[in-house]
Amino acid sequence: MNILVTGGCGFIGSHFLRYMMDTYTNDFFICIDALTYAGNRNNIIDLLEDSRLIMIEGDIRDASLVDTLFATYMPDVVVHLAAESHVDRSITGPQVFLETNVMGTGVLLDACLQYGIKRFHHVSTDEVYGALQLEGGVPFTEESSLAPTNPYAASKASSDLLVLSYHKTYGLPVTISRCSNNYGTNQYPEKLIPLMIQKALQDLPLPVYGDGLNVRDWIHVLDHCRAIDCILHKGRVGEVYNIGAREEISNIDLVKRILTILGKPYELITYVEDRLGHDRRYAIDSSKLERLGWVPEYTMEDTLVLIVQWYRKRLLN
Ligand code: NAD
Repeated sequence: MNILVTGGCGFIGSHFLRYMMDTYTNDFFICIDALTYAGNRNNIIDLLEDSRLIMIEGDIRDASLVDTLFATYMPDVVVHLAAESHVDRSITGPQVFLETNVMGTGVLLDACLQYGIKRFHHVSTDEVYGALQLEGGVPFTEESSLAPTNPYAASKASSDLLVLSYHKTYGLPVTISRCSNNYGTNQYPEKLIPLMIQKALQDLPLPVYGDGLNVRDWIHVLDHCRAIDCILHKGRVGEVYNIGAREEISNIDLVKRILTILGKPYELITYVEDRLGHDRRYAIDSSKLERLGWVPEYTMEDTLVLIVQWYRKRLLN
């Protein structure tokens, strides 16, 4: 099978490519990535030595390039991860989020329709559901309404609807996953965990939004990759699957855990003005996916120390 992975040089995409190439040794892989500030060829540099992987440096918004790619490599399956992914950037500059996340997804969908693919899997986020109350809110299911509260989440919700519309209108075989916050190596250091490690290593103030009590549901990036694989093989076309590991933790508790691992004082924590439209809590119910046989294998308790050490080594070099 030929599997096209978009955004394969990013955080999750690079782990997904590695996981799939290790797991499916008879399949071929094509990666398209524009190598924006968040994409890093080094994340997959060793994989590029494998003749089963072809890397195309290119933009999913470029319909002519995408057409040539499909005509040349004839992907059977597309796993779509390429996106602008940072909420703060979407607040200061939303346009590129609409262009990549919505229009770019539309370009891929058109190519999938034209060339006929077995599956288009769209990687989305729990942020499309908006915020939960800190106390008593019931975790989001796939039936929860879409209520995004920032331009990033709105662009992802829009692309979800576009993907579903291609299934309903044209019968395109699609699936969608909506995942909680991922942790792991290879993440660009603007995201919470690598950012805090970077600041702490330099003994700089660690900026924590608002009162720090915002709660996020976290999942190890490899459990996310395993979940996408499970949906590709066992998921039903036209369906949405939530992915979460039921590891809810407040931002402030997570930052304290990182400081403890690094042996740095809590006094480095500095509370800063809250992010505009900052969602209080996300929590996700992934029972639908668990009924397909997937369960998370990793916990933050077991893996955070290793991940912090990985960033420490990389940032100090
Ligand atoms: P990332 O920002 O680390 O990587 C995105 C990748 O897409 C980068 O390699 C970038 O170069 C590439 N890209 C951006 N614009 C492109 C374009 N126009 N054409 C081609 N490539 C382009 O993001 P990530 O954290 O790995 O997220 C991957 C996907 O997973 C995104 O769709 C995101 O919405 C979703 N997601 C992320 C999380 C998370 O916690 N990080 C959680 C749920 C869902």
